[in-house]
Formats: sequence, C-alpha cells, structure tokens
Amino acid sequence: MNDLIVGIDLGTTNSELAIIQDGQPRVIQVNGSPIMPSCVGLDPSGKLIVGQTAKNQLVAAPESTILSIKRRMGETIKVPLGDKQFSPEEISSFILHELKLAGERELGQPISKAVITVPAFFNERQRKATQVAGELAGLEVVRILNEPTAAALAYGASQTVDETMLVYDLGGGTFDVSVVVVEQSVVEVKASHGDTHLGGDDFDQVLVDFAVRDFQQRHKVDLSLDTKTLRRLKVVLEHAKCRLSDEPYINVREEYIDSQHHLELEIMRDDYEHLILGLLEKTLDCVHKSMEDAKLLPNQIDKVMLVGGATRTPVVRRLLQERMGLDPRFEINPDLIVAMGAAIQAGIIAGQKHHSILVDITPHTFSTSCLSSSHGDWPQVICAPIIPRNTPLPTSKSELFATHYDNQSEVVVEAYQGEGLLPDQNVLIGDFRVEGLAKVPAGNPIVVNFALDLNGMLKVTATEKSTGLAKTVTMDIRSKNVLDLEQARRNVAALTGEPSPATPASNASSNTTADPAQAEAVLATAKNLRQRGEALLAKNISAEDANEIRSLIHQSTESIKNRTWDALAISNQALSDLLFYLED
Ligand code: AMP
Repeated sequence: MNDLIVGIDLGTTNSELAIIQDGQPRVIQVNGSPIMPSCVGLDPSGKLIVGQTAKNQLVAAPESTILSIKRRMGETIKVPLGDKQFSPEEISSFILHELKLAGERELGQPISKAVITVPAFFNERQRKATQVAGELAGLEVVRILNEPTAAALAYGASQTVDETMLVYDLGGGTFDVSVVVVEQSVVEVKASHGDTHLGGDDFDQVLVDFAVRDFQQRHKVDLSLDTKTLRRLKVVLEHAKCRLSDEPYINVREEYIDSQHHLELEIMRDDYEHLILGLLEKTLDCVHKSMEDAKLLPNQIDKVMLVGGATRTPVVRRLLQERMGLDPRFEINPDLIVAMGAAIQAGIIAGQKHHSILVDITPHTFSTSCLSSSHGDWPQVICAPIIPRNTPLPTSKSELFATHYDNQSEVVVEAYQGEGLLPDQNVLIGDFRVEGLAKVPAGNPIVVNFALDLNGMLKVTATEKSTGLAKTVTMDIRSKNVLDLEQARRNVAALTGEPSPATPASNASSNTTADPAQAEAVLATAKNLRQRGEALLAKNISAEDANEIRSLIHQSTESIKNRTWDALAISNQALSDLLFYLED
C-alpha cells in the first residue's frame, strides 16, 4: 500500500487539507466545512481552540485569539495568547495539528506526512519556519511546495491541451504571481514574483482606516486607540468588503462601537476600489516583472488563473482584463485549488499514478558577499549572485572567489537571498567560517557552491581549490538557535495533548519513492540544458555541432513526451558533455 501523504494549504486566513482518493483530489471537511479559519485561541478555561470556534471569539476575546499568524512566519518573535507566549511556528503548528486530527477522524488512519504549501515568494526563513511548524504538529514535511505551483498543478492535472498561463494568487496575507507552462502534462514554472505582506488583510485595514477617519470627523472620537474596537471593526469591515464584491454599495451598522455612538457607514464600491488601487497596482508591477523574467508578452499568455479569496474582488478581475486583454478565470474553486494541488504533489511523492509532473523554480536570487574590485581604491562589499532567480529546482551552482590579502588563514562565507547589489538590501540566511587556509599570497581561489533542493532550501559548500579543504553547511534557522525546538515541542504538546515526535525534522527532500523526485530532477536538468543548447544555436557554431545539439534536444523532447526518465538522463549527459566543449 502507498504511504498516505496529505496536502495542506496553510493559509493566512483559511487552511485546508486534501488527499488523493481514486486518482482525484478530495478536500477533507473540518467541522462540516472544507475551509478552516487559520485562527487559534484559548477559551476561558485555557483550553486550546482552533478554526471556526476560535474565530467566533475573536471580537469577544481578542487577547486570547490569534489570526493571520502566517504574516509573522520566519520572524524571531513571541506573540501573546492569553497569559502565554508562542512563536509563529507554534501557533501554526496548532492549525496544522487541527487539520491532521480532522483528516485522521475522516480517514480512520494516522496521518504522519504532509506536503505543505507556502507563497512562492516566502524566503528561506519563512520556509524553514513552516517546516518546523509541521514537525511540531507531528508531521514529517516531505515537501514545501509553492502555492501558485500547486494551483497550476491542480489545474494542469485536469488539462489535456498545452498552455501558457499566469497564476494570480491574492490571499488574505500574501500575493504571488507565476508564469506557468503546461506542456504534455509537465507543469513548468517559468517565473514567479510576489509580496509576502500584501493581501485581503490590507484591504480590510484600508476600510478600518476609512471608518476610523469617518468616525473621527463625525464624533471627534479616535476608535484606533482601543485594540478591542479595532478587532471589532476588522471583523465587521471584512464582512462588508466581501459583500462589496457582489453589491455596488453597503451600509454598515454596528451598535455602540464606543460607549455612546453607533457606527453607521455607507461604503460605495467605487470608493472602496479607489482606496485599494495603490495596493492592486503593486500586484500588477509583480505581474509585469514575472512576464519580463519569463520573456513573454501579454498576447503570449493563453489564460489568467485566479487563486485566493481576495481575487473575488471585481476590480482585480477588471484590472487584469484591461492590462492583459484576457478574461481571468476561476476554473477550480480558488479557495481549494492550492490544497488540491498539494494533494496531487503528495500523491506523486507517495508513488500514486498521476500524469502530471512538476518543474519548479526559485523565485529568489541566492548570492554570497564578497569585495568588489570595480569600485576604485575602496573595495565595497557586494552580493555576488550564485543562483539567479527563476532557476529550475533542484540546482547546484558554483562560483570562484579569492582571498583578499597574503597569508589569509580564514574566510567567512555568507548566504543572502534577494535581488539587491548590497548585503543590507537582501536577507541574510546564514554564514560560516572556513579556517586553516594555506599560507599563500592573496588570490587563493575559494570555490563557493550553492545547492538548492526541491523545497527551496539551501546547502552551501566552500572549498579551498588548491588543498580541497572544504566546509558544508545547510542553511537552517535551527542551527542559529532562533527557536528552542525542545521547548517548542513541550509547549505544543501541553496544549494539543499529543506528544510530538522527538526526532528532528527529517530532511524535507527525502521521498518515499525515488522515481517522482528523480523525474523532477532529470526534467529540471533537461530544461536547463535545452536553454543552454538553444543559446548556442543562436551563435556562430559549426553546422555539425548545431545538428548534434538539435538531435540531442529532439531526443530529450521525445523522452519527456514518453516519460522515459532513464533515456532522458542519458541524453542529458550527452548534451551536457557536448555543451561543455562548445561553451566558452
Ligand atoms: P485566502 O487566503 O485565499 O483564504 O483568502 C482570504 C482573503 O480573501 C481574506 O482577506 C478574505 O476577506 C478575502 N475574501 C474572501 N471572500 C471574498 C469576497 N467575496 N470578496 C473579496 N474578498 C474576499
């Protein structure tokens, strides 16, 4: 029997769990609904409550309720919940644990493995934090999957025609856009962009600010001074916002919003749309950047797919229609499509037969810091890219650096994520020191290798070229003692009543079946080689070499079509050898 691996969409506002049953994704009901609010609370007796029950007490007990914790993932903070304090990982683990319990009840069997989705634009820390949350919930996270990729996978699984599509994913707290090509059931992400702090929550905030201003003008009372009132406003105005998607205006009335006055407010949809236009323009900037990265024009996109609850806002569709010239679609329920894609990926990893294969990319550039020699007499510390953004995963790339002064006995290797030229424009994800270098003049070559796995997690190796002295470090927030895992396990177990496994998180790239992962890796290599081959064909090379490249690319395309991964690996090797001789 195949291992049961579930797919989980751990959302800012809502979360869902899905499995593959009879070859089809099925979303599991939690308390009668496929969608569970990502809300965690403590009831008056101090008992943990999760989901709708917790959301119900949001207004009455804001100090004992937490919503939108996903926005804080990857931060080294503690958030108060009642008289206790928890890390974002711990809070998220309560959500995951609740989904796990619902799944176990429904399926009548234990669940211990999951694919969990994250925004494509989540950085290394945010991904690690998600993995740790899964572990605290008693789940081995076999894959961290990008949300738009999951959506594309769910969509691609039901597709028979080849298409280039734009997946526009606007949820409660995050925004992602990806350009995805579905070709012979291979779902290939060409480029991704996004903003991990932009979503429906911000639209709620726009309305809260609007209501506070209006109330101040009418009654000379500042509602923003009271946290409980702000929570109340948020709940009422989020509801109003959703109604505005279907109605041209709405009247909001909330009795005694302060001790003397009711809140009475009319909101016109046009006014609301005007207020959120600046935020939507930010999403469109990301759309343009991702199309630029994918080297595509709007008329080369066949379909715009909408994912995430906030895309129900009519102006989102209208703007995309105006800018892309295409009618965006919700072909699959935008609230469930990500969980369904996660379940499909989980099924593939568990070895279930499925015709979709995924090639994912990294949406971020990974670089290391070094001294730039091109800044006159005063060398400047800059970030030198090693893995450029939009590189297919998994990938391994190396660059050569050199020591700066004579007899330099050590180097510090830093890894950054981001597109900036300077270190402080990027996110530092880890560093380490290599000591005991040979005593030689300046210029001692050091090879720095970055290996990025299918979960988007990074392993860095620095090697002194002349001696082979090497050090490898997996960039892991746990190695920096950001979170005391043992303590976190105890905190979580105390509230969920279930012991979390004491073993450290297994390597998230470990699969129960080698084949699908192997297929993905071989496909990614094939894609990379094809691009390099095509670049060479555009240059002035001999007819004989060009023919050989074309023939190997043809072989590789045939192998992909026939899903013969061994044959693909062989043509990859042949093409790689040929390119080695032909490239500069
Ligand atoms: P998700 O993270 O995909 O669950 O999306 C949640 C976000 O979608 C929240 O900010 C919701 O308020 C928002 N949302 C849900 N339904 C609607 C709707 N009908 N119109 C506008 N926004 C909505």
